[in-house]
Amino acid sequence: MPNIRKAYKVRLKTNGNIEEYLVRFSGSARFLWNKSLAMNIQRLESKQGILWYNELAFWLTLWKRSDEYCFLKECPSQVLQQKLMDLERAFRDCFDRNQPLKRLPVFKKKGMGDSIRFPQGFKIDNRRIYLPRIGWVGFYKSCEIEGKIKNITVSSRGGKWYASIQVEQTVEITKHPSESEIGIDAGIKCFAALSDGTMVEGVNSFRKHEYALAREQRKLSRKKKGSNNWKKQKREISRLHIKIANVRSDFLHKLSTDISKSHAKVYVEGLQIKNMSSSARGTIEAPGRNIKAKSGLNKSILDQGWYEFRRQLDYKLSWQGGCLAEVDYRHTSQTCSCCGYMAKENRPSQAVFKCLACGHEANADVNAARNILTVGQTGMACGANRISGRQQEPAGTRKEVLPVAM
Ligand SMILES: [Zn+2]
Repeated sequence: MPNIRKAYKVRLKTNGNIEEYLVRFSGSARFLWNKSLAMNIQRLESKQGILWYNELAFWLTLWKRSDEYCFLKECPSQVLQQKLMDLERAFRDCFDRNQPLKRLPVFKKKGMGDSIRFPQGFKIDNRRIYLPRIGWVGFYKSCEIEGKIKNITVSSRGGKWYASIQVEQTVEITKHPSESEIGIDAGIKCFAALSDGTMVEGVNSFRKHEYALAREQRKLSRKKKGSNNWKKQKREISRLHIKIANVRSDFLHKLSTDISKSHAKVYVEGLQIKNMSSSARGTIEAPGRNIKAKSGLNKSILDQGWYEFRRQLDYKLSWQGGCLAEVDYRHTSQTCSCCGYMAKENRPSQAVFKCLACGHEANADVNAARNILTVGQTGMACGANRISGRQQEPAGTRKEVLPVAM
């Protein structure tokens, strides 16, 4: 029975005193991350090796003793050490051939994804968490927290503080209740098309809120920069951003849960993007030439929503005893799912598929999803189907972050 890791995200009931601690700890951790990252980037640019955790931890003890950086002493050592481990992990991932989408770590800005992790020293009772040097903090309990607690990460977003409680659970891998297999294609007109003919509309939460966002941005531009009203408006905008993100996250989670429960095997198209985005980085020994450009790359190529959806499908299926398989076949959109005739002309428009050989007519995305299913089931693609890389990872590395109720 393998172990899996999950995370429960809960909102903390903070007060001014607790927040002051959290802000200070986050500040120290951010400072340490940025300083260590700057050192390493400089070393990469002058073709020196990266400083890993052990060297950085040594520097940390020196900094703590110095007059200039002695403020680092206020923050629990473990929190700072965790930051250094995160940085090491980020560098390793970035140079890992199996993770072509990972980019070079970036500098952290105040209030942008600030987080601190407590690996030990915490306690949890029913509705409160004990954090080292801070004490007991209450939280809004949305569900039972099950499993052995491994660590707690505290982060803030839109002026609120959250704790992500990571737990380890032992699960029994059973046979998937269903024997159904399905192919899914990322749609052009919709979020996804399934080979059974289902078209899943995207929420497109961004577009829906785009107008509101633009209006709030305009309001901001009319306010004096730095004034109280300006700050208030800034907060309004960040609230809107969070709302958009939540709507999207909720949509993806619901959809991936639904599909992973009703189908045992899901076929998706391989990410050809992989080849496009791995060029600039090089390896640890021989870093790529254009390290700086690399850090800005990639994100725009990928539809993050689709990528996240696949990631969720992958781990949720494995929890159910099912699996996600990647199909490498380039002509899914031009091939007739009925007779197999392949021609560019089969697709008169983005949305319509009409076979020139047999006259089969279908929605273009559904037709492609059917091809993905067929190719997956028969292994028609050149070589064997590549089962997605994540399948081979040890079970302990998967994690789920539950969407937060705001
Ligand atoms: Zn046909």
